[in-house]
Amino acid sequence: MRIHRNREHLARALDAVRRKNETIGFVPTMGALHQGHLSIVRHAKKENDRVVVSVFVNPLQFGPKEDYRRYPRNLRKDASLLNAENTDWLFAPDAGTLYPDGFQTTVKTGVLARRLCGPHRPGHFDGVATVVLKLLEIVRPDSLYLGQKDYQQFVVLRRMARDLDLGVHVKMAPTVREKDGLAMSSRNAFLSLSERRRAPSILAALRHTAGSLKAGRSAQQALREGLEILRQGHPNRIDYFEIVDAESLEPMVKLKKGGRAVIAAAVYFGRTRLIDNILIEV
Ligand code: AMP
Repeated sequence: MRIHRNREHLARALDAVRRKNETIGFVPTMGALHQGHLSIVRHAKKENDRVVVSVFVNPLQFGPKEDYRRYPRNLRKDASLLNAENTDWLFAPDAGTLYPDGFQTTVKTGVLARRLCGPHRPGHFDGVATVVLKLLEIVRPDSLYLGQKDYQQFVVLRRMARDLDLGVHVKMAPTVREKDGLAMSSRNAFLSLSERRRAPSILAALRHTAGSLKAGRSAQQALREGLEILRQGHPNRIDYFEIVDAESLEPMVKLKKGGRAVIAAAVYFGRTRLIDNILIEV
């Protein structure tokens, strides 16, 4: 695996790949890699000749009171994990490379970004879209690979790719979980023992809600029951617990037969904000 901090060096290497008509899969991450990230890399490997992974903790997508400073960083370990997956290139720019002095132009996302996490993280998806657009411009991959754990991010970036004619396939890999159901996340490292023990209540609540819907209960009733399960884990705060249309992310009051829905939650355990979701066919 080659590691590049310099964008020109990476771009030059990738030009040579394209000249050979080899396909490039791209996996953007913020590092502190775990099996969730690595499973996306494996998906990308299966479908492409070459795979590029980026590690960049993007300041633009963190709010002023969020965890940008304390976000876990361990490039050496990330590089060794990626090397073991036969990743071809690791791109690890610093903030000054992507946002040099005078930087001022950003992507403005639309209504999809205002659902779910939107009201709780103002500016977050604009920051994500901006950095991903810049990375896509540098890597120019055939396919972009994202994880279902951040389902709203997937929908917002797929929309951006269509709206801005980026000509990249946007693909989603399933969520990888710990044995007890907690979705893997770099932020899980922040959880205290007690918080870690309580956090699987998120998936339990999502699954219970899905079961209630399948059993024919209304969305409102299914959510009420799910919330009860979630509260048994004593979360410190619930940002949302919702059933939304899988395409528009609009709240589903009446379930449309034949449609796809997402049950999604954002919950704090201690100071750590965790998100998770499951997709269901109605
Ligand atoms: P992050 O480093 O948190 O920005 O995540 C980078 C990519 O990995 C995003 O596309 C995430 O959706 C994805 N991802 C993070 N955690 C998981 C997980 N547990 N399972 C699958 N994908 C994940």
